[in-house]
Amino acid sequence: MALAYLGLGSNLGDREANLRAARVMIISGCAGGLVRESVVEETEPVDYLDQPRFLNQTVLLMTDRAPIELLDEAKRIEAALGRDYAIRRGPRTIDIDILLYDDRVMDTERLTIPHPEITRRPFVMKQLIEIAPDLVDPRTGKLYREVYAHGGNRDHQRL
Ligand code: AMP
Repeated sequence: MALAYLGLGSNLGDREANLRAARVMIISGCAGGLVRESVVEETEPVDYLDQPRFLNQTVLLMTDRAPIELLDEAKRIEAALGRDYAIRRGPRTIDIDILLYDDRVMDTERLTIPHPEITRRPFVMKQLIEIAPDLVDPRTGKLYREVYAHGGNRDHQRL
């Protein structure tokens, strides 16, 4: 079993319901259970600014799926919940990011873990710290709460 931190976001339709549906589908599709859930937070759009505010949540999943299988499942759930890919970084009923997977570091064509958005977006670190205060960035060995306290790393690469 592995521990995976997933970032959920929604800014179209009934955002609360979309997050709830995604959590249910993650549990049934990833052969695991949610160990912890952060609070749901409303956030401003970041890259593509002309769109509604998001609801975001981070969840900790215990799973026997490999990282790439989790990504495939995330894409299935996004498609099932009607995510529209018309605008990159644009409005979406649900977005599911794999933030961390155990202390794995990977850079493949389809998957970068830890997710680069963690240190670019303070609210993501805030939610990670909320559910795992002693969590460490496996790439740097630094505590996320210390990176957060120092304002993150806004120059980090984008996907
Ligand atoms: P998105 O716009 O969030 O749907 O992500 C677009 C692409 O990012 C996906 O199709 C993935 O192949 C890629 N990607 C790379 N690393 C990750 C990750 N850690 N979690 C989710 N998607 C990722």
